[in-house]
Amino acid sequence: SPAAHSPSSDAAADPASQLAAASAEYERLAAAGLSLDITRGKPSAAQLDLSDGLLSCVDGESFRAADGTDTRNYGGAAGLRELREIFAPLLQAPVDQLLAQGNSSLTLMKDALTFALLHGRPDSPAPWAAEAVRTGAPPRFLCPVPGYDRHFGLAEALGFELVPVSADAEGPDPEQVAALTAEDPSIKGIWLVPVHSNPTGVSISPARARTLLALETAAPDFTVMWDNAYALHHLREPHPEPVDVLALAAEAGRPDRVLTFASTSKITHAGAGVAFFAASPAMTDWFLTHTGAGSIGPDKVNQLRHARFFGSSEGVLAHMRRHAALLAPKFAAVDAVFSRVLGPEDLAAWTNPGGGYFITLAVSPGTASRVVKLAGEAGVKLTPAGATHPYGLDPDDAIIRVAPSMPPLEEVETAAEVVAACVRLATLEARAS
Ligand code: PLP
Repeated sequence: SPAAHSPSSDAAADPASQLAAASAEYERLAAAGLSLDITRGKPSAAQLDLSDGLLSCVDGESFRAADGTDTRNYGGAAGLRELREIFAPLLQAPVDQLLAQGNSSLTLMKDALTFALLHGRPDSPAPWAAEAVRTGAPPRFLCPVPGYDRHFGLAEALGFELVPVSADAEGPDPEQVAALTAEDPSIKGIWLVPVHSNPTGVSISPARARTLLALETAAPDFTVMWDNAYALHHLREPHPEPVDVLALAAEAGRPDRVLTFASTSKITHAGAGVAFFAASPAMTDWFLTHTGAGSIGPDKVNQLRHARFFGSSEGVLAHMRRHAALLAPKFAAVDAVFSRVLGPEDLAAWTNPGGGYFITLAVSPGTASRVVKLAGEAGVKLTPAGATHPYGLDPDDAIIRVAPSMPPLEEVETAAEVVAACVRLATLEARAS
């Protein structure tokens, strides 16, 4: 049931009775014995069902691609052309520069960074790892915050030092990025989720993208990791105009600076989709050459399934509208609960994103960990506070990532009630102390 408290009557009450009421409301919700999880941006079962046609559109009679390729065999390192043709216009990539690979774009990001560390890029003075040994300084990577925990974890696991940079409604702060990269050749790149960013929902403006691509950097091989995970994942119209980043990079005279990534993980089956890589011709060759040392070709049967299932670029867009119809009510439900419980007294701020998979909840500094703990004890699992920051450390202890996609709508509503009650309690506790 909805929260029992009434913000208007609480607002009139003295702080001690407000706190007592918040505590009672929390105890009431906690007593319900809930077990809910809004930690990760996974598609719901209903979303996965949308793509079950994949499981039957290739069989023992129909494994040949349009060009006659027997998809069951080795080969075709760049991926099946008919699938790349469907996704090229959606990802603003020329089809010859778009590779279709395995199931995970994160793996392609790991590969690209590993190739740079071991072999260097074509424009590198030395492999990044060798340079680190020579200079005694680890390679460093810029991490816009709040950001995606797996980006940070991957870079950390590969030995990069993580350098937080702040971001606003247009993207990473260009002055901070310029100041950091101008003098320090160990800063090798920046993470970027250009559309409906994880977790803030921000989409980069073309002007900001141009600035990042044109920056004079001390490292000649400074790399923008353009992770377009949510390129097509709009919750409402109008949606952000796509930025043709490969064209912008070429116009800026730095065609090789940006490596782009995407996947169908949140379009079809999250664990059995197709990942894409696109870059300049030189960087696409570089990636493919090194990939070729470790693979005799991607899973073309799965790629053919995807090409058949969608049929066309428009088929992908129509499919994404079906996802939006399932997802948008969940985002709206969280917004409605937060607005009712937290809004009247400005107890927190939160995003109402136009796409992607996350809501960022900004609570009073110093209370995010307490909120996550309270929610956990009441049976609602939240992503650990700090996960949105390098090394899991949010210096303000203020940011919580809410992922409403996976549970059914009623459970999302209940989870939001619990989170809101926890925010209210933690905020009033902090004010009282
Ligand atoms: N990039 C971002 C920004 C994500 O949020 C996610 C998943 O949550 C991924 C990449 C993972 O992509 P994939 O499944 O293609 O490895």
